[in-house]
Amino acid sequence: MISRISKEFRLARLWPWIERTAIRRFGFAATLSAMAVALHWLIYPITQSRVTFIFFIPATVLATTIAGRWPGVVVAVVGLINSAAMKAPGMLMVPNSAEQVALISSALVSLLVILVGDYYRSISRRELSDLHDLHELSATLASIPKLPDQLHLILATFVRMHGASRGLLCTYPARGDVLVVAASVDFGPDVKPGASAAGLAFVDRTRVVIPDTETDTRTATHRERLRALDIRSVHSTPLISRDGEILGVLSVYFEAPRRLSEREVRIADICARKAAVFIERARAEDLVSQRDRRFQSVLESSGVPFVVFAPVRDATAQITDFRFVFLNTAAAEVMRVRSDEYVGRKVRDVLPRAWDDRARFDMYVEAIERNEVRQVERQSVVDANTNWYHIVASPLDGDLAVWFADVTARKIQERELVEADRRKDEFLATLAHELRNPLAPIRQAATILRNENAGDAQKRWSSNVIERQVQHMSVLLDDLLDVSRITHGTLQLRKQHSDLQSILGAAVETARPLIDERHHHLALDVPDGLQVNGDPLRLAQVLSNMLTNAAKYTAPNGSIRVKAWQHDGTLSISVEDNGIGIAPEELPKVFGMFAQVRSAQEHAAGGLGIGLALAKGIVELHGGRIEAASAGAGKGSRFTVHLPNNAPGTTAAAAPAAIRAGNGQSHRRILLADDNRDAAETLAILLRLEGHEVELAHDGKEALRSFEAGRHDVALLDIGMPNASGYEVARQIRARPEGKHVLLIAITGWAQDGDKLESREAGFDHHLAKPIEPDALIHLLERP
Ligand code: ADP
Repeated sequence: MISRISKEFRLARLWPWIERTAIRRFGFAATLSAMAVALHWLIYPITQSRVTFIFFIPATVLATTIAGRWPGVVVAVVGLINSAAMKAPGMLMVPNSAEQVALISSALVSLLVILVGDYYRSISRRELSDLHDLHELSATLASIPKLPDQLHLILATFVRMHGASRGLLCTYPARGDVLVVAASVDFGPDVKPGASAAGLAFVDRTRVVIPDTETDTRTATHRERLRALDIRSVHSTPLISRDGEILGVLSVYFEAPRRLSEREVRIADICARKAAVFIERARAEDLVSQRDRRFQSVLESSGVPFVVFAPVRDATAQITDFRFVFLNTAAAEVMRVRSDEYVGRKVRDVLPRAWDDRARFDMYVEAIERNEVRQVERQSVVDANTNWYHIVASPLDGDLAVWFADVTARKIQERELVEADRRKDEFLATLAHELRNPLAPIRQAATILRNENAGDAQKRWSSNVIERQVQHMSVLLDDLLDVSRITHGTLQLRKQHSDLQSILGAAVETARPLIDERHHHLALDVPDGLQVNGDPLRLAQVLSNMLTNAAKYTAPNGSIRVKAWQHDGTLSISVEDNGIGIAPEELPKVFGMFAQVRSAQEHAAGGLGIGLALAKGIVELHGGRIEAASAGAGKGSRFTVHLPNNAPGTTAAAAPAAIRAGNGQSHRRILLADDNRDAAETLAILLRLEGHEVELAHDGKEALRSFEAGRHDVALLDIGMPNASGYEVARQIRARPEGKHVLLIAITGWAQDGDKLESREAGFDHHLAKPIEPDALIHLLERP
């Protein structure tokens, strides 16, 4: 009970209560006086006036320090009256008595006590108010968000506590070299910082006090200006950061000369410290937000999708999912959302398929748990996005920063390379097969020819077989060479105005055996008189390939239709069949090199898969295009060639290329040089059968010796021979007078345009590719 009362009745609360009104203060003095008088009279029978003032001294002290100097005076006066009344009632002055001296001394002591008590009372009151001001400042600063307002409040409090009218708070910007005014009290807007004390404090980094600007030498140069501003005294305190860096200056200005009190120095230090703390904090925040902005703008401007994930953990701290913390514009674009739509959401909620890819989830978890960077290549888990990404996941303060670099193009390239490689292997296998195919009938036919029992008819049949198969092989090889020429850009067109009918005629002639063999019905819908400006042989090659394909990829008894029409300067020729057709996904591939549709291979003994690539190359060399169309597998196909047609409509048809037998000179003396003895002997037999005289040689030197010995009209020279090449032999022959008019014919496996040029330079008249067409050679020899 007592303790409760004592708790509630606190002296600290009583003193301010007393202080509040004059009545209470004087009432308090009266109470103290009454108590002192009562106590005095209580002990009077014992002391007999010896200690007249004993209770009034402490009462005066209490009254002065708590209620003020006048209540103190009241208590002292009551004490004096009490003492005087005790000595001689009604008479204050007792002449020349010891009591009189004691009374005067008591009055003087009371006065002293009142003066001292009042002084300390005023000091403690000011301290209290200072404390209150500073506390108020701290509380208000915490609720102000912006630095300029904070600095202004600090300055205003600082100026008020000094009882001054002007103040200036200047700061030294982080980037810049002059002080700027951050806050001012009672200065105009054009106030310039840095003059006089503030400048000195800034430069010297110490407090500068100028008690009188009129006498101080440091302000000599600024005196006029200070006078104009009515300033007589300045106090500047530097604002120093925790690292010792100078941040600015806090100054207060007085109109009269003034020395600084210890209290003012303390207040200046407290306010300067506060200002420095707030400036530092603002700069740090600025730096962080600047870094944040930079980081953000780098990430935003990057085209690489970037996401920050925060792990989502269960009660056992296991990671069960990830939450989007940040995603840049590129990532938002990939996911087709606005970046703020996903932030804060769990991956599983927005991309339900995401963690089907367990390996990716485990990789993210591992990167976080082990605090290591992890990378992997994965396909997108976002719907409608099939791109491939190189994913780099790196731990970031407990979160996970993940980059997604798009590697789709590389993946496609890799796949294409694998596909090209597969096609090449397939091509080589097919090529081997295609080359071996004709060899079997050739070998058998040769055996039959060798057989003595074979009749004439059988021998004729055998030689027909050999001729046909050799023809087949050389077409194959020609195609291969043509493809190589097209890819190297060396295929030359011999363009001329030709009649489409005759080109088509040649093409049909080539494809006819296969069409007939498979009993197809061929319908031609080609108007007469259509002209084309192009290489007739090459165009016939394109059309025959289209016809042969139609025949190959259509079941027996199918129908093939060829149409041609002209429209807007374009001549179009289409070959349509009702065969196996082409699946839509295969259509774009059929013009690729070595492209063969797998299902088609099963239907027909396919070729090398270069026919259409070659056709496309030739058509494009003519400035045209070729396209394939099919309603799908089993629904037939249509291949159409479109050629820009600038041929005059009525130009007479050029004769289709054909070898016509001439009636020239029939008997020639021929030197035939070839290191392949079989090839040489068989050709020699063939030529002798035609009535020519043939001499054989098997290397370059022998050829030259034979030529010197006999007078030959013609020299048939293989190019690749031991001892001296065909070129060398030709040059030597041409160098002799008797060799000037000899007909020189090169026979070679090298039939590229460059080889032909070289043979011409060596002096050859003609260049025949192996295996040579006997008819072509015979025709050459018959020329005059
Ligand atoms: P190939 O030597 O295999 O015939 P091509 O380049 O001429 O080579 O043809 C490429 C592929 O295009 C063929 O393997 C076949 O799958 C397909 N193709 C070409 N023409 C037709 C067609 N008329 N009908 C169906 N498929 C065809």
